[in-house]
Amino acid sequence: MIIDSHAHYNNSAYKKPFRYLSYDKDGYSLKEGELPQLMQEMEESNIRYFIEPGVSLQSCEEVLQLCSEYPGRIFPAIGVHPTRSIFEKWADRHKLAEYANTPGVIAIGEIGLDYHYKREEQHRLKQHLWFIYQLNLAWKMKLPVILHVRDAHEDALRILRWHPARKLGGVIHCFYGSKEIAEQYLKLGYHFGIGGSVLQLEERAKALWEAIPHIPLDKILMETDAPFILPYCKDAIQPKLLRRARNTSLILPAVIKKIAELKDISPDEVEQVTAQNTIRLFSLPIEHV
Ligand SMILES: [Zn+2]
Repeated sequence: MIIDSHAHYNNSAYKKPFRYLSYDKDGYSLKEGELPQLMQEMEESNIRYFIEPGVSLQSCEEVLQLCSEYPGRIFPAIGVHPTRSIFEKWADRHKLAEYANTPGVIAIGEIGLDYHYKREEQHRLKQHLWFIYQLNLAWKMKLPVILHVRDAHEDALRILRWHPARKLGGVIHCFYGSKEIAEQYLKLGYHFGIGGSVLQLEERAKALWEAIPHIPLDKILMETDAPFILPYCKDAIQPKLLRRARNTSLILPAVIKKIAELKDISPDEVEQVTAQNTIRLFSLPIEHV
């Protein structure tokens, strides 16, 4: 059984019929369809459960709505993404606590720091304010966190080291870093979400490939960040067809295979252990079979 610990099926990309990436024993292919059909196909492929993080106050409402349509299958996390936090009104922050109090919410996320796009200093300050506010919320609600950290590991680690929410654990989603950065988060007890980033060409994925043998399997979670982060598959599919294609959790068997290869263990072990890790970290109300 596979659990996608990070996907955005409430994204507008899935609202109308869409083209999406599929993967099976013959490799990658493109399909067309709508969300109910995709959810059915994922169920048949043994990809049974999903965690759906919020990225803005409005999206948190949509996340809760989607999760209520797939009860016990999609689990909600509540949070404001760092690059979206700069557009939110600080006075509206209390809405997050209201959403987070909804029964069934399993984490605070995705939250963090993102310095990738150059912004004025005050935007960084705003990101810091929202990040710390949401860590406080996680601590108050005794929930783990889903962290989005991009080009900001030093600042994020400094905050996480002193904040008590660290004790509740969490995942560094879409981990792309080196062995050295992984070690810093491991010391704090965090997990690593690995997805399409491991399926890129060598020049992009090299640091991650080198880090993975040093990350214990019981600290790894499967994720896609769908509809984003398509794996490299231009040798199987024409690049112009890929342009509007959505990523899906159907690629996770390819991620599992790659991690098994890098760790020199069986894909079955990677699949079982990473599913158990996800259930344990987020206290998901599911029986592991
Ligand atoms: Zn995400």
